[in-house]
Amino acid sequence: MSTTNQHDLVIIGGGPAGYSAALYAARASLDTLVVEQGMPGGQIATSDMIDNYPGISLCSGSELGQKMQAHAESAGAQSAYGSVQSLVRHEGGFTIKTDLDSFEAKSVIVATGATPRPGNFSGEETFRGRGVSYCATCDGMFYRGKRVFIIGGGNSAVEEALYLSNLADRVEIIVRRDVFRAPRGMVDRLAMKPNITIRYQTSITEVSGATFIGAITFRDNATGEMHVESYDEGSVGIFVAVGQDPATRLVADLVEFGPDGGVLTDEHMGTKTPGLYCAGDVRSKSLRQVVTAAADGAIAATAAYQYIESISA
Ligand code: NAP
Repeated sequence: MSTTNQHDLVIIGGGPAGYSAALYAARASLDTLVVEQGMPGGQIATSDMIDNYPGISLCSGSELGQKMQAHAESAGAQSAYGSVQSLVRHEGGFTIKTDLDSFEAKSVIVATGATPRPGNFSGEETFRGRGVSYCATCDGMFYRGKRVFIIGGGNSAVEEALYLSNLADRVEIIVRRDVFRAPRGMVDRLAMKPNITIRYQTSITEVSGATFIGAITFRDNATGEMHVESYDEGSVGIFVAVGQDPATRLVADLVEFGPDGGVLTDEHMGTKTPGLYCAGDVRSKSLRQVVTAAADGAIAATAAYQYIESISA
C-alpha cells in the first residue's frame, strides 16, 4: 500500500459504482484510493431498504454501502474523505484536489452519482428545510402524524410515498401527467396503503407562508385552473422526487455529454480523455440502479487496469 499521495488509480465517489470499481482494482493489485465526501454508499446511504440487488434482501442502503466499502478495503483499497474541488489532466496523469488534500493518479474513475432535481416551483428555495425536502428517509420523521405531498411519478416518488405512509397521516402524490413513469408493479403497491391518494395532472406552482409552509398553489394541468389550499403552518411538507441530475461538474471539460446530461462513455466506461473513466449514475444511461452502477464500476476498473498496464509497459 502507498504511503504517499501518489496512486495508480483514484476513484472519486464511494457509492456502489465507486466501491465496486475499488474492489476490482484492488484485486488486480492496483494501488487504489476512493475519495468520498459523505457516507459510504452514496445515494443509497439514504435509502431505507434495498430490495432489488440480486442476492441481497432486507438490507438498508447505508448497511449495503458500508459492506461494499469494507469488502473493497479488505481487498486492499484505501478510502479518504474530502470534497473533490478539481480534477486536472496533465502529461504524467491526473491531479485530484480536495478541500483537504491533493492526490496524483495514473488513472481516474469518476463515480460521483447524481443529485436530486429541483421541483421548479415558486418558494422552493425559501422553504427548503422548512417544509420542502428531497429525502424522505432523512426528513420523514419531522412529518409524523402530519400531511405530506410528494411531487413526481417515478420509482422514487412511489418509494418515498410508501415510506412516508408509515409516518404521516396523509400522503398525496402529485403527478404532473395522467400516468406514472414508475412501472405498474410499483404503482400497484400504493393501493395497499389507505392513507395514500394520488392527484393526477396536477402541479404545485407556488408555496408560501411566514416561517413554514402555510399555503400551496396547485395547477390542474388539464384545464390550466389554479387553486390555493391553506394549512396551519408546520402541519404540511412537500417532498420533491422528480429525478436526478448527473453530478458532472468535475469533468465538464474532459468528457462529452448525452441528452440526459450524463457523461457519454464507450462500453469500457472510457471517455474522450485517455485514462479517465466514468461509472454509475454520472453516466448517460437508461437505468440508474445499484446493480447497473456496480457493473459499471467493475468494467471501469478492468479498463483502468489495462490502461495502466499499457502506459507502464
Ligand atoms: P424518474 O424515473 O426520472 O421520474 C421522474 C418523475 O418526476 C416522472 O414522473 C416525471 O414526470 C416527474 N417530473 C420530472 N420533473 C418534474 C417537475 N418539474 N414537476 C413534476 N414532476 C416532474 O426519476 P426517479 O423516480 O428519481 O428515478 C431515477 C432513476 O432511479 C430511474 O431510473 C428509476 O428507475 C431509478 N430508481 C429505481 C428504484 C427502484 O427500482 N427501487 C428506486 C428509485 C429510483 P414525467 O413522467 O411526466 O416526465
